Amino acid sequence: MSSKDLKVLYIAAEATPFIKIGGLGDVAGSLPIAIRREFPPGSPNGVDIRLVIPYYPHLDNFSCTPKHIVDLKIQHQDKSLKASVFLCENKQLPVYLIKGDPINFGKQVYSSEPYKDGLKFTFFSLATLALTKKLNWRPDIIHGNDWHTSAAIYALFLRRKHDVFFRNTKSLLTIHNLPYLGIGAESALREFGLPPAVSSPLPNWAQSTPLPLGLLSADQINTVSPGYAKEILTKEYGSGLEKFLQSRAKSITGILNGIDTNFWNPKTDPNIYVNYTKETLRSRSLNKAKFQESLNLKIDKNIPLIGMVTRMDYQKGVDLLPSTLRSISNRPWQAIILGSGDPKIEEDAQILENEFPSRIRAIIQYHAILARKIYAGSDMLLIPSRYEPCGLTQMIAMRYGNVPIARATGGLRDTIIDYSLGKRSTGFLFDEPSTEEFTKAIRRALDVYSDKRKWRGLQIRGMKLDHSWENSAAKYVSLYTKLTRKPMP
Ligand code: ADP
Repeated sequence: MSSKDLKVLYIAAEATPFIKIGGLGDVAGSLPIAIRREFPPGSPNGVDIRLVIPYYPHLDNFSCTPKHIVDLKIQHQDKSLKASVFLCENKQLPVYLIKGDPINFGKQVYSSEPYKDGLKFTFFSLATLALTKKLNWRPDIIHGNDWHTSAAIYALFLRRKHDVFFRNTKSLLTIHNLPYLGIGAESALREFGLPPAVSSPLPNWAQSTPLPLGLLSADQINTVSPGYAKEILTKEYGSGLEKFLQSRAKSITGILNGIDTNFWNPKTDPNIYVNYTKETLRSRSLNKAKFQESLNLKIDKNIPLIGMVTRMDYQKGVDLLPSTLRSISNRPWQAIILGSGDPKIEEDAQILENEFPSRIRAIIQYHAILARKIYAGSDMLLIPSRYEPCGLTQMIAMRYGNVPIARATGGLRDTIIDYSLGKRSTGFLFDEPSTEEFTKAIRRALDVYSDKRKWRGLQIRGMKLDHSWENSAAKYVSLYTKLTRKPMP
């Protein structure tokens, strides 16, 4: 460790392997590790990045033993609440875990009670700042993620005007999913002493809401793909903040997420039937056969097996699936749908399986191992998202020689090259989130599938892509460096 290291505190509501609900968990679990690996502390461009997450009561999957290191006091109305900090120090990354009453609420990371979630995440956010002071570890950058940690960004902005400790600390806020603004958490912020930003450039309705406050006060904003960074400036994707975001456009960038290429590797994945590489792609078909067998579907390598791994949410366009699959029922295919979420979408998927019992399987669950079998054993992956800040499933699919069929939006458009572009193509894209366009895209894929040589070309090109974190880690570090050089506002 050297005093010249750039000090970054990375704060997030979830991180693998401790806890993962969605893509944020993947990113927070991988990016800080990749940064520390590529820019080791003590080296000429060293970055001393540390992760902080809440110590939820249901947290498991520790790769180390958390040790209690300090207690903090966080002011809430006229009381002070205790936050206990634990450290999980492993070779890859120091991880701080914060325990406290507001974090103990409920069994879910994100509950359906926005006020209680507001208390939980505001408490957590303020504790992250208090922790740096207690440790006398002065961060150059506080890197927050989504609405859950926006209160830390806003509090930093308010405090550094009069608190010398934070005088030179800058902030970066990454948007993984803009529409989750933290609405309903407003009074929780006030109770923790964070006032609304009246007479600010934010629209009136957003002046006490966590994510807008974070976006107002962050020194730099970024999204998880260059495409989404542009889209959020438009009415269609801007969640009512587009005009405000346009006013901050110079401070908004996009850096594509990566995937953990060791964790997602068909060569070594212990949860698939047969390991393979692009050189031994032929053995991939054994995965398909065994998978068909396990699902009690007809074992036939020539029948295209369509896969889907998703949260069942309107964002993901899963509701388009029943009408789309019905409209291609005259063609041979099988489908395996894995997902959970909105009860209506779950029910529709179940109805679909009942309607096509010999060819559709709908598994309404979050099932990490089954997801891997789908990436390795199905031929194509459906991703009809209405919006997609980055999306990981398409990158995982391509790494496993699975061909994505996706809506051309956000990170999907940035990572998939449509078949019409010939020799560089890696999948199939469609423009409008409608049954018609989705159907056309699947039909195109089914047509190409019957030409084994062309299909193999798509698979190999996808498998050759490098979506490892190293690229993104370097881009983040260059953004951090630029940010530290920016004059204080
Ligand atoms: P989002 O974060 O919006 O849900 P991403 O594509 O960024 O979408 O990330 C989804 C991650 O969650 C991927 O790692 C995917 O494999 C995983 N996933 C989603 N749904 C399921 C499920 N039902 N079972 C297992 N893994 C899932």
